[in-house]
Amino acid sequence: MKEVYPGISCFNLVKHEEYSADSVITLYLIRTEKRSLLIDTGYVECRDDLIRVLDETGIPYENLDVFLTHHHSDHCGNARTLADRGAVMYMNPEEQRHQYDCISYRYSAGSVDAQRGVLRHVGVTEERTPDIWNIFMDINRRVEKKHDWYLAIAGFPFRPVHEGQIFEYGDFRLKAILLRGHTYGQMGLIDEEKKLLFPADQFINGIIPIVATTYPHEHLLYHYLNSIEEIRQKYSGWTMFPMHGKPITDAAKVCETIAGGYARKADWVYRVVEASDIPLTVKEVTEIAYGIHDIPSIHEEFVTFKMMLTKTFSILEYLTDMEVVTVEEKDGMFFYSNPAKHI
Ligand SMILES: [Zn+2]
Repeated sequence: MKEVYPGISCFNLVKHEEYSADSVITLYLIRTEKRSLLIDTGYVECRDDLIRVLDETGIPYENLDVFLTHHHSDHCGNARTLADRGAVMYMNPEEQRHQYDCISYRYSAGSVDAQRGVLRHVGVTEERTPDIWNIFMDINRRVEKKHDWYLAIAGFPFRPVHEGQIFEYGDFRLKAILLRGHTYGQMGLIDEEKKLLFPADQFINGIIPIVATTYPHEHLLYHYLNSIEEIRQKYSGWTMFPMHGKPITDAAKVCETIAGGYARKADWVYRVVEASDIPLTVKEVTEIAYGIHDIPSIHEEFVTFKMMLTKTFSILEYLTDMEVVTVEEKDGMFFYSNPAKHI
């Protein structure tokens, strides 16, 4: 545990031995005599380390509030454990608006039907792409039987957070802000007087955060790029405490890197659609854009392919929002084309 700002401590939880940007998460703790605040909980694999660190602080769990920025396994993986011990969870309920989420695998009643619809959106069905479909079903069985899947999140009770809600701990007055983009209902915290921002995964020091969805009409990448621009305008010069990587003091530079990165990716995806003589599904655009010939059958590698599908979906929807690509829906499946070619 180390102090990153007077009154704010942080500690890292590491998932794997080898380092990669998202295998380490930084959790922040604001401690007071009355209630204390922890931001996020880390991966379920790090449960013992988390409990050891929290036990060392001596903070009784019933005096602990936990602000969950968004419903991904590295942030909510231990929410159930902490809730069971008496801590109070806070999260934006919009994070659970779908029965099935393409990244976090909240496995719940209705999620299998929802998953079928989600996969159909991107062009994956049992008849059309049995190889990919079967891997998804294998993973489902794995989650259902043993909960043996690192992206699965155990259910937990939480109090709903709304935009503008104030959390006070000692002389910190933290306001919840909506950071739509990385996920639909992601939230961060700001202290306006101290000029501090907890940007959740909207900003990650060193890498460009993923904006992934497979639900249509949510316009996540559009919201994400707007949010990044808003952060650049409102919070330049503030100190930011991201959940992955070191604190950020130069918001403008990070915003530029992110906007530039997505502009290049969008251009790349656009070229695939532009070059095709026939309308393409998300799965087809993904395979061409990333040069994929064989779908990995090892589950952990398959996740990378799944992420590519969801990223490509977000970008295609953005290109549709920008009216440079046309989308047509047929039986729940989306086909993208260059409007100049298919009038
Ligand atoms: Zn994360």
